[in-house]
Amino acid sequence: MTIHLEDPACRSVPPELFFPLGYGREFTRQIEEAKAVCRSCPVYRRCLDYVTANPDLAPEGIWAATTPKERRKMREGGTLQEPRPRLVVA
Ligand code: SF4
Repeated sequence: MTIHLEDPACRSVPPELFFPLGYGREFTRQIEEAKAVCRSCPVYRRCLDYVTANPDLAPEGIWAATTPKERRKMREGGTLQEPRPRLVVA
């Protein structure tokens, strides 16, 4: 299998991870798991720019390590307060 540098990290995980359902700890755990995938993504910055510029195209789910509520706050605040990507050491 060839992995290109620019492959989105979400390509290798089930898409439903980015659309958490339920409530409580399991819901929170799934959100954090999806965000962790985003933080390791080589196209994270472009994804963040895209979803903040096109809110109607990504109204639901986790995109660029943000929830819909976090993206809404970012837009309403007029500033891009992006979550800091975590350095992953293998
Ligand atoms: S940052 Fe965007 S492209 Fe990358 S894993 Fe997250 S949702 Fe996918």
